[in-house]
Amino acid sequence: MKLIAQKEAEAFVKTGATEFRYNRDIRLTPGAKDVFSEAGVKVVFDAEVSASESTPAPCAAAAGTSDDQKLFNSPEAERIKKDICDIGRRIWAREYCDGNGGNISARLGPDRFIITPTGVSKGFMTPDMLSMVDIKGNQLAGSWKRSSEFTTHAAIYETTPEAASVCHAHPVHAGAFAIKELQPPARLIPELEVFVGQVAVAGYQTPGSPEIAASIRPLAPQHQSIIMGCHGVICWGKSVEDAYFKMEITDAYCRTIILAQSLPGAASIPCEKMDDLLKIKKSMGLPDNRYELKNAELCEVDPWSEMCGSRGCATPVTPCNPMNSPQSDAELEALVQKLTNEIVANLNK
Ligand SMILES: [Zn+2]
Repeated sequence: MKLIAQKEAEAFVKTGATEFRYNRDIRLTPGAKDVFSEAGVKVVFDAEVSASESTPAPCAAAAGTSDDQKLFNSPEAERIKKDICDIGRRIWAREYCDGNGGNISARLGPDRFIITPTGVSKGFMTPDMLSMVDIKGNQLAGSWKRSSEFTTHAAIYETTPEAASVCHAHPVHAGAFAIKELQPPARLIPELEVFVGQVAVAGYQTPGSPEIAASIRPLAPQHQSIIMGCHGVICWGKSVEDAYFKMEITDAYCRTIILAQSLPGAASIPCEKMDDLLKIKKSMGLPDNRYELKNAELCEVDPWSEMCGSRGCATPVTPCNPMNSPQSDAELEALVQKLTNEIVANLNK
């Protein structure tokens, strides 16, 4: 089954052809149908037409050697492609990706990586849509254009040799923290402490840009889960499924915090118990930037007051742009006073 998405339809329109013929092995996305209808290209079903006749190559020919082609078709590569498609279905089913969002990659060999295509829903990929690239993102095999966000994945592979796979998506609960550029507080659930560790936050940068790669590079070796400001989450793991697990644990953690904010009270993992969790983690060979810290340092900040300030937990967290809203009671009072004065002044006119 070949999927023609918006990008492929646009490439077809550029050829100047006025008719697109397809058969039962070819499926068009709604975006592709829109492109054809806007460009006045007639879409015709033709059971006899062959796939190569009817569809444009989704991208320029890959630049790899015959060895690359062999590696790309090896049993190991096929296993990784299948794993990536399985995880694609899972991130879509969990609503971690929207539209064509998200991307997943895995190491195949020294300087060789398998990556998902651009412009395709991650829930409906087939192994033939994946491609192979080097660390610079040059496409060496596969006919579907690779994700434009591979350079962000490369920042992790370059700095973190243990990273065997990278998973990026837009899960909404961690996304809520992303649009506030807010770090989820630590010491609330052992699952996160042991299997993920501190979730890092990188400030907003344009997706796919060198700047976003530069912002991820210093964080990756110590953080398996990174919230990208006003964007999404990127996680790495020792396998495709492991990278996905980091994403799932991060989003569940953020979701629990958001739900708990509406409830009274505030508990957290006691300081003296944190050491136990870090010991378990260390014994599993997982990285963490807190191994050298003493108990007191692990507990310098109370997780709930860090999130909610002195007012308690039912109040909203600090907004993204403090310029737009008053921050303190004094400021709020001054604002109310100013408005009252204006109203009184108008009444006296
Ligand atoms: Zn993204």
